[in-house]
Amino acid sequence: MPPAAKTLFEKRVLDSQKRLFKQQMRKILIKNGTVVTNETVSQADILIEDDQIAATGTIDTPADNIIDAHGLLVLPGAVDTHVHFNDVFMNTVSVHDYYTGTLAAAHGGVTSIVDFSNQEKGKSLLDTVETKKKEAHGLALVDWGIHPVITQPTADTLAEIPRVVNAGAPTIKCYMTYRSDGLLIENTDLKRILKTLHSAGGMLMVHAEDNDIIETEVPRLVNAGKTAPVYHARSRPKEAENKAIRACIDMARETGGRLFVVHMATGDGVEMVKTAQAEGLNVFAETCTHYLMFTDKVLEREDGIKWICSPPLRDGANQERLWEGLKEKIICMVTSDDAAYSWEAKRFGKDRFDLCPNGIPGIEPRLNVLYSEGVLKGRLSLPEWVEIVSAAPARYFGLAPRKGNLAPGADADIVLFDPEEEWVMGQESLHMAADWSAYEGIKIKGKIKKVFSRGELIIDGDRCLAKKGRGKFIYRKLNYASGGPLFEKSGAKTSF
Ligand SMILES: [Zn+2]
Repeated sequence: MPPAAKTLFEKRVLDSQKRLFKQQMRKILIKNGTVVTNETVSQADILIEDDQIAATGTIDTPADNIIDAHGLLVLPGAVDTHVHFNDVFMNTVSVHDYYTGTLAAAHGGVTSIVDFSNQEKGKSLLDTVETKKKEAHGLALVDWGIHPVITQPTADTLAEIPRVVNAGAPTIKCYMTYRSDGLLIENTDLKRILKTLHSAGGMLMVHAEDNDIIETEVPRLVNAGKTAPVYHARSRPKEAENKAIRACIDMARETGGRLFVVHMATGDGVEMVKTAQAEGLNVFAETCTHYLMFTDKVLEREDGIKWICSPPLRDGANQERLWEGLKEKIICMVTSDDAAYSWEAKRFGKDRFDLCPNGIPGIEPRLNVLYSEGVLKGRLSLPEWVEIVSAAPARYFGLAPRKGNLAPGADADIVLFDPEEEWVMGQESLHMAADWSAYEGIKIKGKIKKVFSRGELIIDGDRCLAKKGRGKFIYRKLNYASGGPLFEKSGAKTSF
């Protein structure tokens, strides 16, 4: 056969295989559930065709598989836009890779994650995307995207920013601290990056803690013999966080750039972001599960190193202001900041807080903790819960409208959640790869029963059915249409 004919023939075979595959794809009808989106709660059915949601409402169409969701909440899959997989940090590496990390994610109802990728010394910014694609290949169980992290703010790096945005990674992160880990970006560079990224259609994520204060306080405390875990928090006081937040908001004002303050932990931060938003600045903020769940009291415990993270846990008054900030939609979402280090690595900090790798494994508990602590305690409505764990992360980080909602045309990423079942969270009941848990013994109401990712049942009860490598790279693009989804403070008018 001549080559051209062979190619045509191959194409026909492929097409027929595709058709066959399609016929085998099942229509799944989820009946009688309570469907919760970020806008509404309703009794409705959902029809899945192939990998997408085909219809919602009252549906009586034949399907290959009908699932009775009576008594269950039907939610869009959670989206976690702040995780650190394979993260080399403070002389160790996180134990969540693209298999173990997405396995824990899937069990926690998370069907999309966005991971950070640090620019390596002497390497380009585009390499950050390629490196993670290699790391994820053959391993990821759910869909994933990348936030590049700039570590070398050279002219070459800045020139690459538009290409990185066009490669589907339009949100870039910089750290205002961690000099010894090679992450610190000075304010003058930060401002330049914010401006360049803005022109390219991207958004800058900032780890806001003032490096000068920390670099003064850490040696002062260590030299005074104050090395217990609680001094980690004392070495990074709220003033350090507030000063950095203030500095980067000023940069957003000067440049018009889009700024996203990650893992905000102070009440003053809420006030500053509120004022900035009232001014009309493009300033947004998230907080993380652990700041809502724990206060700095836990750092005084024998096992206080478990909760060493940065910024550190704050007191009850700050925590209460974070909850209010969420309710007021000043803080637009809650992510996990999953950074899972082994107990052996965490123990570097047992007698020296400054040697403890900063981070808490948290990719799995987020949806559950926010239901128990948020919805059941009257701090959040059901739609607000879905907004902060799913819809808002999808919208702000360019995964919407395919992710984070249940409208026809969206990816069929769906969680079936039993709001009544009670269980105890901890190392035994969770699936995260670290050999310890910060969430040990916490009583939880509400259990994830089934998780679908692009129409495929990946979690059924306690079993994971997902094949390694099925997760796909999510090409992200921020939606800046005037009044578009990114800037809506409530609701998600999704259009396809
Ligand atoms: Zn982080």
